[in-house]
Amino acid sequence: MQAEGRGLAIRCEELVHIYRTGDADVVAVRGVDLDVEAGERVALLGPSGSGKSTLLGMLGGLIPLSAGRAWIGDDEIGGLTERQLLRMRADRVGFVLQGAARNLLPYGTAIDNVRFAQRSISRARRADLLEPLELLDALGLASIAERPMAELAGGEQQRVALAVAVANGPGLLLADEPTSQLDEPARDAVLDLLEAVNERFGTTIVAVTHDEEVGRRLGRTVSMRFGQVGHEGRHGSQFTVVGKDGSVHLSDEVLADWPPGTRVVVERDGDHVRLTRRHP
Ligand code: ADP
Repeated sequence: MQAEGRGLAIRCEELVHIYRTGDADVVAVRGVDLDVEAGERVALLGPSGSGKSTLLGMLGGLIPLSAGRAWIGDDEIGGLTERQLLRMRADRVGFVLQGAARNLLPYGTAIDNVRFAQRSISRARRADLLEPLELLDALGLASIAERPMAELAGGEQQRVALAVAVANGPGLLLADEPTSQLDEPARDAVLDLLEAVNERFGTTIVAVTHDEEVGRRLGRTVSMRFGQVGHEGRHGSQFTVVGKDGSVHLSDEVLADWPPGTRVVVERDGDHVRLTRRHP
């Protein structure tokens, strides 16, 4: 982690990803437009299968774009070669996949794991990075720095996994379900660590989550459904995003009473649009 971070902005225009399986194509991400400012913290919410992990993988250069364009900082990722994508991931993007703690060296200490993560960074760049203990200290992990991973609780391992993900001083941290399977105190500790990474180093954070509380703490939420962004929320206020095709996603609460196929009358009055259920 660099002593002084530089967050990377994200810009996505009509991103699409199609998984081509033998018999059927699955459109996992269908036309996502998204702007994230440098240093912003965003939670990607939505039901299982709505395309969150796929979108995260696309932003990290792990999953190719079937269509659309995306920029991480000044780099347009669709235009990068495989080698340049590898370099981007090594130098500028931290990625925490689900179950990342399982990939840590079990007999190594937290320090060993951070050191191991820094091994492939060029010596010139390493000079800009915090030493493993300094990094762990900055993230509130000094007390467990010398403990072997196998002895740590799940939440502690997850926090070390996040520290390892930022050991290369990334401008962007992408995390897939960083708080799943943790109890409330452990989840809050992980959220404190994400805040520390963001505030101390300016790192932009995008985290996939099922947990509304994670969304509340991160401040901005982007909710997906069927591969599209349907809702956004910022610091408590929620709004629906009008899709490219003119569609709007209704909240689950409204959908419970108005299932798909319900006919509504749409009336416009200045800035207001009123939807009224039409009874047959
Ligand atoms: P989420 O993270 O919101 O649960 P995903 O991005 O994992 O959603 O999945 C979006 C859609 O893509 C789902 O329909 C899922 O079944 C499908 N999918 C995900 N990964 C693959 C894959 N490797 N091959 C085929 N389909 C996939």
